[in-house]
Amino acid sequence: MSQSIAHYIQGQVVSGSSTRSQEIHNPATGQVTGRVLLGTAQDVDAAVQAAKAAFPAWSDTAPIRRARILNAFLQLMYQHRDELARLITAEHGKVFTDAQGEVMRGIEILEFACGAPQLLKSDFTEQVATNIDNWTLRQPLGVVAGITPFNFPVMVPMWMFPVALATGNTFVLKPSPTDPSTSLYIADLLQQAGLPDGVFNVVQGDKESVDALIEHPDVQALSFVGSTPVAQSIYERGAAHGKRVQALGGAKNHLVVMPDADMDQVVDALMGAAFGSAGERCMAISVAVFVGEGTAERVLPKLLAKAQALKVQDGRELSAEMGPIVTQAALERIRSYIALGQEEGATLLLDGRGFDATQAGKGCEQGYWLGATIFDHVTTDMRIYKEEIFGPVLACVRVADLGAAMRVINEHEFGNGVSCYTRDGHTAREFGRRIQVGMVGINVPIPVPMAWHGFGGWKKSLFGDMHAYGEEGVRFYTRQKSIMQRWPETTEHGPEFVIPSSQ
Ligand code: NAD
Repeated sequence: MSQSIAHYIQGQVVSGSSTRSQEIHNPATGQVTGRVLLGTAQDVDAAVQAAKAAFPAWSDTAPIRRARILNAFLQLMYQHRDELARLITAEHGKVFTDAQGEVMRGIEILEFACGAPQLLKSDFTEQVATNIDNWTLRQPLGVVAGITPFNFPVMVPMWMFPVALATGNTFVLKPSPTDPSTSLYIADLLQQAGLPDGVFNVVQGDKESVDALIEHPDVQALSFVGSTPVAQSIYERGAAHGKRVQALGGAKNHLVVMPDADMDQVVDALMGAAFGSAGERCMAISVAVFVGEGTAERVLPKLLAKAQALKVQDGRELSAEMGPIVTQAALERIRSYIALGQEEGATLLLDGRGFDATQAGKGCEQGYWLGATIFDHVTTDMRIYKEEIFGPVLACVRVADLGAAMRVINEHEFGNGVSCYTRDGHTAREFGRRIQVGMVGINVPIPVPMAWHGFGGWKKSLFGDMHAYGEEGVRFYTRQKSIMQRWPETTEHGPEFVIPSSQ
């Protein structure tokens, strides 16, 4: 065991008052590689007080000067991209090249946030009434907090804090205790970039620290990303405590295969989107919907052959295509879903439970390994269809036509991402317009929107009004103020008792 991961408050790594801690594992080997402290309400209060004290000066700093600090941080992120990716692979297990991609997606949000001076530029109307001008401002909220999941330990925090800091807020991050090391690495880079102490803080922990953030009177807003039950509870409790809340939840993403699609492209799309990052992505494809007679038969043999040949290896190997499952508990949960699928009567085409861990690399025998798994003839009443499994398990559903495909997707309780493979423009257009899902791909399997477009699902995949990052992110982290101003030379008319209008 090597390291202990602590909190970062007021520019210092501190142990605070934590008495509880949790093991950190390398999922590829099953070895314990460290421990993470689990913060208390007192630790949360210390972080919030540091952020509150830093807020007046930071919010008063000219946006362009804040952006310069974020720009310096951006350069450091580029320089240290691979170290961050290595930390992700060591604690999450995803393959190194995918971890590099995750860091890059975080960097893109930072690049967007560096444009804060433009993003905060407001509108102005001269002469709304005689001698009166009216303009709007967007001002920061104060101390805001982010609570993030295990599956993107760099990217998801970076959906939040670059935009929050660029717009003048101060921040408290509560990372996942499963893979907490990148949070301190990022804190160090922010400090090197010249961020004043207290502007960015980290409290490690679990439910106890999250509850303390929800209840803390000086936290103005909560951004959450994680599973749906927790998202819903944080949204409801946060709102009851008077906070602005954005809570992104779970998913069950479908990929519709139309009979006219390029089936080789479909096979590759399903391979990457179902099994990339071991299916532990909120935008992973977990359901293939084959439309029309014979469509499944044109895809499944090739898909099966490729899935059997998938390189499931220690993520440090550059040839690896899929790494281990994140924890023993997650592995057991996914295995139990595979058993459930069999009980429910789906056809198990490929069973990842038979994967031989010695194939994954040296020292991987005790790791949390599972191979790619494919179920055919899944029906919409089965739990393996309805529930989020969050592992490398693909469910195949067959429907008669596009209308039926859209109906099953629209009836699903989640609405995060969806994809449709077709060569027909009208099909693509109809699908894009009528599907009840927040992020849509046409011949794109994982349509994660770019930094300036904003990310968010519908239905039980997002609780709150605004999507993450992009312009909605800027709106989430700021509040609007309208200023109406007149500089009369003299008071000519005495008091007015009629509501002012432009007449
Ligand atoms: P999780 O809900 O278990 O944990 C998320 C965060 O909440 C962590 O920081 C965790 O410590 C904290 N937490 C856990 N239980 C809590 C509780 N009872 N009360 C308060 N806080 C609690 O999620 P996870 O397993 O880390 O991540 C996987 C989930 O996240 C999946 O459901 C996935 O779909 C979802 N996810 C969604 C998106 C999205 O954009 N919609 C993105 C990434 C992940």
